[in-house]
Amino acid sequence: MQPAEHLYTLLKGERNIVITMHQKPDGDAMGSALGLYHFLKSLNNNVTVISPTNWARFLNWMPGCDAVIDFEADTVKCTAILDKADILFCLDFNSMHRTKKMETLLLGAKCVKALIDHHEQPAEEHFDYGVSDITKSSTCEMVYDFIMASPFADRLDLNIAACLYTGIMTDTGSFRFSITSAATHKAVAHLKELGLEHSVIHENMYDNFLENRLRFIGNALLNRLEVLYEYNTALMAISKYDILKYEIKTGDTEGLVNYLLSIEGIKVGALLIDRVEERKWSFRSKGDFDVNELARNHFEGGGHKNAAGGRSSETIEYNVKRFKEVIKQYELQLQ
Ligand code: 5GP
Ligand code: MN
Repeated sequence: MQPAEHLYTLLKGERNIVITMHQKPDGDAMGSALGLYHFLKSLNNNVTVISPTNWARFLNWMPGCDAVIDFEADTVKCTAILDKADILFCLDFNSMHRTKKMETLLLGAKCVKALIDHHEQPAEEHFDYGVSDITKSSTCEMVYDFIMASPFADRLDLNIAACLYTGIMTDTGSFRFSITSAATHKAVAHLKELGLEHSVIHENMYDNFLENRLRFIGNALLNRLEVLYEYNTALMAISKYDILKYEIKTGDTEGLVNYLLSIEGIKVGALLIDRVEERKWSFRSKGDFDVNELARNHFEGGGHKNAAGGRSSETIEYNVKRFKEVIKQYELQLQ
């Protein structure tokens, strides 16, 4: 993989560029994709953002979001666009399988492929150019760096700033996680100087849910939480029944796992959600406990040391039982 800076000469206009990100894009995946989208469009490229799946409705306010195409909903159109692409940017994921049904198409694409990502164990062998840096708060911060280091830094405008701020904010837990650096704050200070209205973005992202989501969270905290004090671990499993009863949609469960870590002394939070196509795990930890390792070795996943995800095709009951067996192996680390 050549350094991302070597790409600048290829971005000077008239290129067909496709940007994609991980399935069920979060603020960082959507923000980085749209931030880069506006930047590359300002250089007169023909740019399309393709999301592997649908996304949370609280991202719809983002400038450019209405032009994003959902691969699952419009596979034929997306395949044709990918076929004509000169350059493909993959943002905020470390391995092609995180694009679900797009994986085979992306692996087979003949165009130039570039990666911008901050997850551990990136599959660099699939990319011609790129940057992978696990010390970065977010892919949005990396796109900011990519733009600022380019000969086209003057293209950074308010639309780009709003998109990039979103991912920096969501991936740093509003600037509280230890990954938040001086460089992160300096980038945001620069975005503020451009006129960024950060409080509007917080409102758009966090104060825009429907009532049913709040009731769903109430029920989950009251009836679905199990605290395993002997392992300083909190576990929550959400069944299909809950998802249907409370009409839970993509994005409605985001942030739920963080409640688990808010209990005094709890070092690991594990949330399991019974999605239609698979059982999806979200892991969070405080301090030294490495949930990336836990997810990689036991739950077909990965991510970062303090925030990782996994999956399983087994039942929710099997997964809960399995988690309780697995966590025993870490008893000493969790004291
Ligand atoms: P979340 O729990 O918010 O879905 O994910 C936490 C972190 O782990 C995110 O950085 C996300 O990209 C990553 N992650 C989530 N699921 C998976 C997975 O199945 N595989 C890998 N490699 N990373 C994941
Ligand atoms: Mn990210």
